[in-house]
Amino acid sequence: MPTLGNPTGTIYILKKYNFQFRKKYGQNFLIDSNILENIISAAQITKGDFVLEIGPGIGTMTQYLCENAREVIAVEIDKKLLPILEDTLSAYDNVAVINEDILKLDINRIVDEKNGGRPIKVVANLPYYITTPIIMGLFEKHVPLESITIMVQKEVAERMQSKPGTKDYGALSLAVQYYSVPQVMFTVPAGCFMPRPNVDSAVIKLTCHSKPPIAVKNEDLMFDIIKASFNQRRKTLVNSLNNAANLNITKENVISALEDMKLPATVRGEALTLEQFAELSDKF
Ligand code: SAM
Repeated sequence: MPTLGNPTGTIYILKKYNFQFRKKYGQNFLIDSNILENIISAAQITKGDFVLEIGPGIGTMTQYLCENAREVIAVEIDKKLLPILEDTLSAYDNVAVINEDILKLDINRIVDEKNGGRPIKVVANLPYYITTPIIMGLFEKHVPLESITIMVQKEVAERMQSKPGTKDYGALSLAVQYYSVPQVMFTVPAGCFMPRPNVDSAVIKLTCHSKPPIAVKNEDLMFDIIKASFNQRRKTLVNSLNNAANLNITKENVISALEDMKLPATVRGEALTLEQFAELSDKF
């Protein structure tokens, strides 16, 4: 078995199994061992860790995870990769592959059964077509998490770290910053993947809070308000919230809440901090 994480080993495996990349699954496999080592060290994987890997592909990063962690669960949607994974991971007895769509899997049950409900580390070179639903799913289902270290599109990584008043600031920034502290670790050029993606990538680490940093009476309402505020980015908050069919908030309600918060009636959502969204939400 050649080592993966380089073009020769990857091509050998792809040919052996006559594997055809499927664009619809966002299949871009890592072929650079330095990047793989840097991901493992960014995630600070140790022998005590239980790791969930999303989308193992041919098992390149999975091998690194198996070497460094206590136990690895790798969730892969593409059935055609299963015989390959069986082969490339045959040397390890601390890994299980689950053939499932990560968006449909009951991850909480796995964490309960396999890690006694204690927080886990997630490590992944994500399929970019579902980056946001995967991250939001982990947070909204309240999966016990220590950290999420993931390869994403560079722009998406920047959006997660953005602060109020910047063009990238939005619902994703607020959700990520409510549940975690995001830190872009390094960028990754397209040449480190096979096939090359059309975009540059970055590895971002989200260090998850055990408790959110701000208190809010109704988390769901706050996120509905946040989503409505950024749905119509160029509109004032008064108009955006009034237009949101699911909120049932009048213009007068918003104006009076903003007045209490000493904010102008013309303010847009992009100017508000997480604390201000929590305060606003608590008023409704
Ligand atoms: N980890 C491998 C690597 O770094 O070389 C592969 C990463 S590739 C960018 C994304 C992987 O996620 C592919 O193997 C793809 O089949 C898988 N995938 C795509 N959608 C998925 C889903 N909904 N659930 C689980 N895996 C998925």
